[in-house]
Parts: sequence; structure tokens; C-alpha cells
Amino acid sequence: MLTYRNTVIAAIIVFILILVYSVVFSFSIITLIFFILFFSSILAYGSAFIGFNFYTKSFCKSKTKLKVVSITFDDGPTDNTNSIIDILDKHNVKATFFVVGDQAESSPEIIEKACKNGQLIGNHSFSHSNYSGFYSTNKIVDEIEHTNAILKNITGKDCKIFRPPFGVTNPNIARAIKRTGMQSVGWSVRSLDTTIKDSQIVLKRVLRQVHPGAVILLHDTTPNILFILDKLIENLKESGYKIERLDVLMALNLNRREK
Ligand SMILES: [Zn+2]
Repeated sequence: MLTYRNTVIAAIIVFILILVYSVVFSFSIITLIFFILFFSSILAYGSAFIGFNFYTKSFCKSKTKLKVVSITFDDGPTDNTNSIIDILDKHNVKATFFVVGDQAESSPEIIEKACKNGQLIGNHSFSHSNYSGFYSTNKIVDEIEHTNAILKNITGKDCKIFRPPFGVTNPNIARAIKRTGMQSVGWSVRSLDTTIKDSQIVLKRVLRQVHPGAVILLHDTTPNILFILDKLIENLKESGYKIERLDVLMALNLNRREK
């Protein structure tokens, strides 16, 4: 499997071969540039795509063949979150909210309501900084632990799941996840709900990609999230899909002896 460790080992071996070739024959700047570009591209791709499991293993989908999916929300709580919980309640559906610690601290009543309604709460860092990809391991550990403490204070429960901001991973984030004992979570269906303005297109995009064991990524911050969520649940149910929290989907992944 292509991982960060394997890639670094391969890069060292190739670099030594280039050095030997340069000494015995001749030095080629083109070869060196190609080498740097090639390995940098792999590292960048591994960082940008969490489902690649390059730096750390993330739960992005269940291997179940049952028509079960999870709906997950990032970047809350926001002004939309209360209404999102109401829509989930209307359909008797449980989802998972990856919340930002700073916002959870400011709106504990929303987290309480979500928890009381049986929704699962995950950790999405404390600050959700645009620079979190450049943070040291210690700083990321602080962000995770601070948010876990805030959530424990509100819900009384230990938070075990963490979704890195923007789904970006790197060696420091991987080390922080390991050190805090969190389960990293990604997704298998990206709605692009924060970038695509047309709700119908977002809806079609999700329904086209959905599959047994899918983890669907939505955001509390999306302007039309209430319409999208309502229609998405209706369509998924019409297609025979059950919607469960991430912990249920993860358990299905571990227990694959399904009937
Ligand atoms: Zn986010």
C-alpha cells in the first residue's frame, strides 16, 4: 500500500540511485527535477485526499454491503444547526456532527440539544484555522484535547472521533491523532455543498455517488442545507437506504458477517 513511510523509503532509494548514476555517468538536472516533482506530488496528493490513507488510516466508508449510510455535518454549531436537528428529528434520523470547539463553547445549548436527540458529536479541532495544516504536533494535540474537554463538559461523554479541518492530513496531524488516541474520520461522498450554489445539483451529486456504507459529508454552514437535507433523507429512504450514526456504521464495518 502507498503510505507516507513507504514513499519516503522509495524516495531515499531512488535518490541514492540518482547520486550513483551522477558519479558514474553524468549529473542530470532534468532527472533531479523530475524526482523532486514526482515525490512532492505524491506527498501533496496524500495530504489533500484523506481517503488515500496516506499519513494515517481514516474511516471513510464501511465495507458493509447493506444499504446503510451515515450523514455527517462539519463546521458547526451555527445558526442552522438547531433546524438541522429538527429536520433529523422529523424523519427520525440520527446523524453525526463534527463540531468546532470554539463554536461549541459559545453555543453549548445546541450541542446539548443534539446530544439529547441522539445525535453523535465528533471533534473538528478547536479553531478550524486555515493554517492548521502548518501546525506543530503539540499544537494539534492541544486543539484536539481542548475540544474534547469542552465536549465532555457539555455532554458528559468522551469524544473518540476526529475529522481534521478540510480533511487535510500530514505527518504532524497523524502523530497528534495517534497521541490523542482518536479515530480519524473522512468521507466517501463529498457533496461540495459549500461551493455549489444550486441545491438540486448538490442533491443529485450526492445521490449519484451514494453506495452501501457511504459516509456523506455536508456542512452546517451551507445556506440551503435545510432543503438539501430534507430532500436527501426522503430520496435515500425511497431508495431503501437506512441512515445511521457513524458509530453504528463503524460497528458494521467490524462485523461484516451480515445476513
Ligand atoms: Zn471543516
